[in-house]
Amino acid sequence: MNTLRSAEVQKANDWAASKPPLLRFLTACHADFSAETSGAVADYIPELGKADPDHFGISLATLDGHVYEVGDTRVPFTIQSISKPFVFALALDTLGATRVEGEIGVEPSGDPFNSIRLNADNHPFNPMVNAGAIACSGLIREAKGDGAFEYIRQSLGRFAGRDLDIDEAVYASESATGDRNRAIGYLLRNSTVIRDDVGAVLDVYFRQCSVLVTARDIAIMAATLANRGTNPVTGEQVTTPYAISRTLSVMTSSGMYDYAGEWIYRVGIPAKSGVGGGILAALPARLGLGSYSPRLDRHGNSVRGIKVCEALSSHYDLHMLNRSDDARNSVIADYNIGKSSSRRSRRPHEQKILAAHHEDVRIVELVGTLTFSAVDYVSRQLAAQPRPHFIIFDVRRVAAMTRASARLLAEGFQELAAFNVTAILSGIKRSSPQWQTIGEWVEDLANVRNFPVLDDAIEWAEDQIVYRHGGAIDSVEVTELSEQPLLAGLSAEELALLASLGTIRTYQPGERIIAAAVPAVSLFFLRSGVVHVRLPDGIRLATLTAGMAFGEMALLETHHSADVLADKSVTALEVPLPDFLRFREEHPRAGERIMRNLAQLLADRLIVANTKMNLLTAT
Ligand code: GLN
Repeated sequence: MNTLRSAEVQKANDWAASKPPLLRFLTACHADFSAETSGAVADYIPELGKADPDHFGISLATLDGHVYEVGDTRVPFTIQSISKPFVFALALDTLGATRVEGEIGVEPSGDPFNSIRLNADNHPFNPMVNAGAIACSGLIREAKGDGAFEYIRQSLGRFAGRDLDIDEAVYASESATGDRNRAIGYLLRNSTVIRDDVGAVLDVYFRQCSVLVTARDIAIMAATLANRGTNPVTGEQVTTPYAISRTLSVMTSSGMYDYAGEWIYRVGIPAKSGVGGGILAALPARLGLGSYSPRLDRHGNSVRGIKVCEALSSHYDLHMLNRSDDARNSVIADYNIGKSSSRRSRRPHEQKILAAHHEDVRIVELVGTLTFSAVDYVSRQLAAQPRPHFIIFDVRRVAAMTRASARLLAEGFQELAAFNVTAILSGIKRSSPQWQTIGEWVEDLANVRNFPVLDDAIEWAEDQIVYRHGGAIDSVEVTELSEQPLLAGLSAEELALLASLGTIRTYQPGERIIAAAVPAVSLFFLRSGVVHVRLPDGIRLATLTAGMAFGEMALLETHHSADVLADKSVTALEVPLPDFLRFREEHPRAGERIMRNLAQLLADRLIVANTKMNLLTAT
């Protein structure tokens, strides 16, 4: 006993000590590249020269908000040029794209970051070199006046998910020695890109460069860029997706100084480095990486940081232009009600109508992120087959929708409407962001029906088919027990006897008739109205109408496994269980017949459940 115990404990400990593969990989990178000691700590800003050259931290943030950390990921260092993309994004949102894009170009300069040169129009080449970044700080100052730096500091903090401090010593050091940047500042004023006091603008720029971050912060900031501006840890939308995509564009072409072309060719991940020793890499829709190691190469990029990015990109094949996607993966099931109907039990004449028109209701269940290609694929599937009257798109498993996919879907709805096909969305609430994304493209979304639950959508579409073909639904009353499938094959006397054992009850809409987990005391035969059977976790198992029995599982089990609630006013014949059991004993032939009928009903339900499972797992 004791040995077994300790073996189990050992196993649990092994498991706890085991690392996810990505963390293992980052740990191996850290171990391998720690040996790399080439490069030199920047000292043109004297205070930067004090950094410990051996510090090395790697952090990776995923878009579901998990942060991996190896080494010195909590050691603070100054953000320096890594502030540039964020202040550019902030300027786009604060002053508007037209203004910002009118002042600052987006072409790579091919020059070092601190080059005192403007483009042919006397504007900065791009916002990633000092000239462009200083111009950005100037624009923020124009909008926010003396509050400019505080505005930038707080925004950087929203990208990082925490309040960030400033390293006063580095700020003072750069301010005292930053004449090169002053030269750039005056050049910008000379060409009217800066209209403000140059000293005040540079003060904002020097301060923003001195904001203290860690490798962990940089990873989260990168993940926010990779996540269209929503911080995956805090959930906050920090800037608009427009500002983010344009920021990533300039990072792609100019983020790594005069090494940018080589970088995007080899590593293929938008990135930005800073002379403090940080590198930020943001792979859109995938991850954010932050590294810190202060020894720099001749371009001013962290030597170890570059190695980490190269290793990550090549080991996992993450080059952003080396991608493919199978649009067909978004469709998890595609069927009509002939293959899998709603959970509403139908009376024979309804069943007949639905069987004859099973192709009129088609269900397409979608999963994952809906992309442009996925929706295009679905729309071609729909066009290729006979057009149904109702198409249900179930999006309950859809985690996100790109704007392109929403627009294509909306255009698909318009096309369907033109052919008198009713489009139905299920698994989506009108208050959800997905609904708003689609709503942006569809003028009158009121035409599109929606149901939070797929089964309700199928049931509704089936009802429309039944109505169209002359079958009434709710108004029916079934007073004869002979119409009950559970009692099929019983003689008139036996039925009359059973009827005499019961009492007719009425229930109001919403009333609970049977409670789950309570000992079963009665069986019910529904005479009119509608009830539904619901599991304690809220899942609707079945909808029953006049002519059907419920609580019948009491014949097999002692406790009810589900709730039964009245949907509309209900009348039902309640037969107490002891009386029913006595009847079965006294009339063994009838008793056996009832159990056979019950077995048949259960077998039918099993077939329906299996078909549904197969629909979902078939590829
Ligand atoms: N503050 C630094 C400078 O302007 C930032 C440069 C950098 O990180 N490349 O020189």
